[in-house]
Amino acid sequence: MSNKMDEQITENDTSKQTVPAWAKFRSEMLHSFPSPFKTENDSLAEGIYLAIRELDKLKPEIVGGPAFLGTNSALTIDFENVKDSSLHPKMSSSNDVIQQVIKMFEGLPNWGHPLTMNNVNPQGNTAAIVAAILSEIFAPNILEGEYAWNVHQAELESAGILANLAGWKPKEAGCIYTYGGSGCWTYHLKYALTRVLPGSRNKGVRTDAKVICSQQAHYTMLNSTDWMGLGMDNIIRIETDMETNAMDTKHLEEVLKDCQVKKIPVASIVCTMGTTDASAFDPVEEVRKLMDKYPNPEGYGKALLYCDSVIGWSWIAFKNYDFKLNPLGFSDAVLPYLEKNYNDIKGIFYADAFGVDFHKTGFSPYVSSAFVYRDAEEFESLLSRGPSVYLQPRSPYNPLNYTLEVSRAATGSLAGWATLKFFGHEGFQSVLGGILENKVYLQNQMANNSEMVCVNSGDYGFVTLLRIYPKDVDAAFQFDRELKDVTFRDDLIKHNKMTQAIGDKLFEWYRSGKKINDQCTPYLSYSTGFRAAEYNRDMKDPEAVIYAIKIFPLNVHITSEVMDHVIACIVAARDELLSNLITP
Ligand SMILES: *Cc1c(COP(=O)(O)O)cnc(C)c1O
Repeated sequence: MSNKMDEQITENDTSKQTVPAWAKFRSEMLHSFPSPFKTENDSLAEGIYLAIRELDKLKPEIVGGPAFLGTNSALTIDFENVKDSSLHPKMSSSNDVIQQVIKMFEGLPNWGHPLTMNNVNPQGNTAAIVAAILSEIFAPNILEGEYAWNVHQAELESAGILANLAGWKPKEAGCIYTYGGSGCWTYHLKYALTRVLPGSRNKGVRTDAKVICSQQAHYTMLNSTDWMGLGMDNIIRIETDMETNAMDTKHLEEVLKDCQVKKIPVASIVCTMGTTDASAFDPVEEVRKLMDKYPNPEGYGKALLYCDSVIGWSWIAFKNYDFKLNPLGFSDAVLPYLEKNYNDIKGIFYADAFGVDFHKTGFSPYVSSAFVYRDAEEFESLLSRGPSVYLQPRSPYNPLNYTLEVSRAATGSLAGWATLKFFGHEGFQSVLGGILENKVYLQNQMANNSEMVCVNSGDYGFVTLLRIYPKDVDAAFQFDRELKDVTFRDDLIKHNKMTQAIGDKLFEWYRSGKKINDQCTPYLSYSTGFRAAEYNRDMKDPEAVIYAIKIFPLNVHITSEVMDHVIACIVAARDELLSNLITP
């Protein structure tokens, strides 16, 4: 394990009678730092090799094994006492610590397992994971050029590729890799406030400028408006269309008119491009037209148009796909979905900025989100703080002068960039289209079971939301009544509770390694209100909402056989629940 240099130090140290204890510990420690020089037996290379081999032992032996790592799926943290911990007086060994880390992975969801379909949690691709790991070894700091050197290519080239996909001029655009879709939301808000309230950088936010987004917008709007100091009360929620869940532009126009009459500035309008469950896309082009029609009052800057496209962004990879010739051979059932999603996402062209989560529909590890802006000169000069006294500009690219963060790991930028390079158009198209092929298969199979109903069959996204009813109930009819007819409110609530109980039963089965037809059961989740009943559009009645079992097959290992199994498991969970009710 040791290299020559370590041996020399050890020899020198032991040759002295009076070697201080610290030097002894320090020399022991040296073996557990990576060698800075070429060597055959670097502790890091060996350590990573062994750790991955050990970690992989937690994978299930066989196809059909459980969708979590290891054999014990229980939560084993002693939450009462875990914090009652202090720094150990003795040094430990690197190997020992690594073993303990591996133990922590016991029971963790296995995101790549074909039975994992709970949410937008894809398994990362190998190129992206390896790129991310490399960033931890030589640790480029992408805050500025001197510490990032050529690794800055990843962020800069990502900006160009993503801007190109949006139809923007790549050389004029830019991007910042940051902490998640919520980081992107926060970046947009800072950009908007700085543009619209020019004094705010020095004097603080002293005006109740409004942030407008739809009722379906992601709850991170609360984080951003709160932490940015604008205040959550300054969010205006626009109604969404009952059918498409997209922002209702008539309502938006009323709100903009009202703001104009009252001389209230709008900081930004956020179009959500692909909501988590309904996969709704807001009509960006129309929103842009309305923003041009109702500019901010004098004295305020131009409102920003942001696309929260962190889930929907990757459909843009269908740019230039020939949907008629269909060179990749997608099925007739799937093609219209692909085309619709591409036509919806291409509206990001009209935005000033958009968000990209590679850890969602980019099949990359956390945290690899990119905030992409159309006008780099504007964004970077608006937020510029001038140079630091610590750091010298050694390259033309020094984003620390305008970023929220100071130090930034290259992890996200390398993971995102690696994915873009690896996938190309074809890769994104095949993976995304493949997910929809599985989804369509699932929905066709469901149609054969009259006790089940797909409650989001109008959606074009990845998710299937379903309700299953007691035996011999005509699910389609029953659901239609529950959705539309207030006299079925009690039924709706009763079946919501049943849906929740089935969802919890399935979770318990997944965690306990229960088998149905010799295979473990899937890791699913459920929604406690993905939409309101039609008579409850204003959501005044918190109970008149639709619960549904959620199947999110965002995983390249899933096959149609797995989908058949999912249906069988849902039916079995319903049967067990109902038989327990009858014979307690
Ligand atoms: C996931 C999501 C967010 C939050 O992103 P994180 O990456 O979890 O921080 C914001 N908006 C939408 C539409 C999302 O789907």
